[in-house]
Amino acid sequence: MVSVAASPAVQPEPSTAPRRVTILGATGSIGTSTLSVIADRPEAFAVEAVTAFGNAERLARVAKEARARVAGIADRSAYDALASALAGSGIEAAAGAAAVEEAASRPVDVVVAGIVGSAGLAPTMAAIRAGSKVALANKECLVCAGDLFMGEARKGGVKILPLDSEHNAVFQALSGHSIDEVDRIILTGSGGPFRDWTKEAMAAANPDQALKHPTWSMGPKISIDSATLMNKGLEVIEAHHLFGVPEEQLDVVVHPQSIIHGMVAYKDGSVIAQMSAPDMRMPIAHCLSWPQRSPIGGPRLDLTRIGRFTFERPDLDRFPALRIARAALGAGSWATNILNAANEVAVAAYLAGNIGFLEIARLVEETIERAAAQGLSHAPGSIKDALALDREGRRIATSLLTRRETA
Ligand code: NDP
Ligand code: MG
Repeated sequence: MVSVAASPAVQPEPSTAPRRVTILGATGSIGTSTLSVIADRPEAFAVEAVTAFGNAERLARVAKEARARVAGIADRSAYDALASALAGSGIEAAAGAAAVEEAASRPVDVVVAGIVGSAGLAPTMAAIRAGSKVALANKECLVCAGDLFMGEARKGGVKILPLDSEHNAVFQALSGHSIDEVDRIILTGSGGPFRDWTKEAMAAANPDQALKHPTWSMGPKISIDSATLMNKGLEVIEAHHLFGVPEEQLDVVVHPQSIIHGMVAYKDGSVIAQMSAPDMRMPIAHCLSWPQRSPIGGPRLDLTRIGRFTFERPDLDRFPALRIARAALGAGSWATNILNAANEVAVAAYLAGNIGFLEIARLVEETIERAAAQGLSHAPGSIKDALALDREGRRIATSLLTRRETA
């Protein structure tokens, strides 16, 4: 297992040269927060490459603001717009999936993996193969092919730094300890916008209501995942791979205040929790500066203003996605891969107004059952395999959707 937990006993002298950072998904929510942390500390960080899918105008803007060397856009048809927006800036423009992988492969200190969905698999793997530390937000990489990612990182001696707030919290709470000393890992979640809604009300919830997260501001896909609690399910799978802990030792607790992000319960009965304001800039800054800590701006905790913390068990009847994700983890990496593919299809269909909110989890469960019946229950042995399985999962989910629409 890759030791994401252990910090070096003797920490190296902090280097004075700025750390070189590449940001995959620079136009998204994680990308924007990363650029904001970097903009606060221009003496500490320098940007090598930024990438996006198709938003050429925004990518060019952030590339210029961050003085990046390269801007890579996945959608080839956006090349002309990117190149003309960057004309005269000295920043190299590149397009196509290979250009994003090339950007990810440039040797840097840290690559922030901030692409959404399985589209991030190949570029994130390219970053690991190039030997850069990876600050991992793109949890779908571990959900689709966790063994492959952790195996490749172990082989290359590459550090994967958990950027997802819960996992970053656990990483911090594990500092100085070995995983053998751990009894349980506890991931917290706000419970999402429908925490206290009835099932009937949830069935009728529209995307605007589902996108309104009570404590975090995030991209649309993860916001819907937070409303279904699929996000917590994906995070249980992510934690299993990052920390090498079996599913039974991974607890989920609803904590609506979103101040405690994760906890480690040790075998001696002590529980160490990490707290901060709910602001992704904090775990991002932690990853970019690790193993040091840098001063960053932003909200500070005032516990007397928060007043009290509350905790609840997740309701698996109203939020079956968490149960389905745990079952997929138990079934193996083929099932978590299909779970992710079906979930991406279901979330897109929900956002497009084609299915109801409660149908998201149903579609995911049905897709996994169909995939098993079609003999797809074998672990992917390569990223190519993982992407092929992902395509199969999408095909099954899409055919189930079409059947629903025509029924
Ligand atoms: P956003 O939707 O805000 O941003 C996604 C980014 O990925 C954009 O830059 C987008 O480019 C790019 N992108 C999308 N598709 C492709 C593709 N096919 N090829 C290359 N790039 C692509 O997502 P978030 O920032 O919210 O989330 C990113 C990841 O981080 C997700 O895995 C999420 O689960 C995880 N995460 C997010 C948190 C948050 O606070 N937002 C918290 C913890 C984890 P373009 O703009 O051009 O479409
Ligand atoms: Mg999270």
